Amino acid sequence: MDERTAKSAPKAAALRKLPSVDEVLRTSVAAAAVERFGRSMTVDAVRAALADARAKGEAPGDAEAFARAATARMEYEAQPNLKPVFNLTGTVLHTNLGRALIAEAAVAAATIAMRNAVALEFDLGGGRRGERDELVRDLLCELTGAEDATVVNNNAAAVLLTLNTFARDREAIVSRGELIEIGGAFRMPEIMSRAGAKLHEVGTTNRTHMKDYVGALGPDTGLILKVHTSNYRIEGFTKEVDARDLAKLAHEHKVTLVNDLGSGTLVDLARFGLKHEPTVAEAVAEGADLVTFSGDKLLGGPQTGFIVGRKALIEKLNKNPMKRALRVDKIRLAMVEATLRLYRDPDRLTQTLPTYRLLARPIEEMQAVAQRIMPALRDKLGAGFSVATAPCSSQVGSGALPVETLPSLAVAIAPVKSGGGRLNALSDTLRKLPVPVVGRIEKDALLLDLRCLDNVDGFIANLTTLEVPEAA
Ligand SMILES: *Cc1c(COP(=O)(O)O)cnc(C)c1O
Repeated sequence: MDERTAKSAPKAAALRKLPSVDEVLRTSVAAAAVERFGRSMTVDAVRAALADARAKGEAPGDAEAFARAATARMEYEAQPNLKPVFNLTGTVLHTNLGRALIAEAAVAAATIAMRNAVALEFDLGGGRRGERDELVRDLLCELTGAEDATVVNNNAAAVLLTLNTFARDREAIVSRGELIEIGGAFRMPEIMSRAGAKLHEVGTTNRTHMKDYVGALGPDTGLILKVHTSNYRIEGFTKEVDARDLAKLAHEHKVTLVNDLGSGTLVDLARFGLKHEPTVAEAVAEGADLVTFSGDKLLGGPQTGFIVGRKALIEKLNKNPMKRALRVDKIRLAMVEATLRLYRDPDRLTQTLPTYRLLARPIEEMQAVAQRIMPALRDKLGAGFSVATAPCSSQVGSGALPVETLPSLAVAIAPVKSGGGRLNALSDTLRKLPVPVVGRIEKDALLLDLRCLDNVDGFIANLTTLEVPEAA
């Protein structure tokens, strides 16, 4: 017998003794699994476990061992794909982590809307058909000073609908300094062409003058679009035309001026010690006919896009058949309404709205969080890693105040002996925890920015299964 056959002989014996599906299903472990996951899924999982043993040439043991393997398989598969994570990146509105956290008031409103029939498009006074946007129109007008408002899927949809309604087969005039790309998939020139609008670029990357706009106006002009350069700054020798002057020009030529604000906050961020970001009310007051902005950036609500402005124009938007394809459902409208209501009491926004609470979070609070999690981290990571607090910088994210940072506090983890990719390995391991922990590597340390860490007990409990990567 050569070495290979000698090794595979016991394997072959184990496989010959594989239990049948029925034998596995008769175990008490399998019975418990049927109770939890249902018969059909359990039978499939048992079959898969048996097939696995045959393929690998090794069996986990007796019938009960197979039932346990099948249960583990089902438990693994039962985990949701959309998992909560600890966002310790320091980016409060992280597009890839779902942007704004929803206020409790909005969560409650959404739950009610989900469980019940609601008067979504139903005029309870007259019993006639109503308009779904009416649910939030008055609030939007009150908070922005606009005459009218409409709601769509997101701000990209708001821009698309606006361009399609007012510049289809016509020209949209935009400054070259404002032809933005947001997160790859949203590129202003591409959205324009999909909307059927012809892009008429004016000026240069760093400087655009009034005379550039004047020269571009003509019989084909559908609208002038001003785009808030929300995710970058052009600095140095620059010039852009003020929104007020642009509004004057547009109105002289009977052309619609649209201002895509992007984040479009409803309150002055200076309240929270941040730099001023143009508010929607300011953009309306400056004379833009329509202003578009997102619901899940600084506004702190669900993914939505808002268009506010002149009544006659909003009516046209609502009549565009595309509006139907871009409208939002009852759940999001419920959240939008509840979120907007919070703005009626702006003094309490840092308590009621998670986005502002996190942006305004005092360092002392983060220090207290650090003191609680550091012993647990040290305990788990052992002598191979140093764990200490470190000042760091958070950012707003989602293209608001792109160059502005907020002083913040991190727990910095670094391998005591450098090299060996241990830091990357640790970062990977943390991302594979039951509740993935997402930090950022800066210089030679893994930074866990504590600005967005609320559930401290949950964070510590989550470390139980952490397996520390070995030194290389
Ligand atoms: C973010 C942003 C958009 C896209 O908004 P979404 O809500 O992500 O669709 C469009 N324009 C500007 C200026 C933005 O900042």
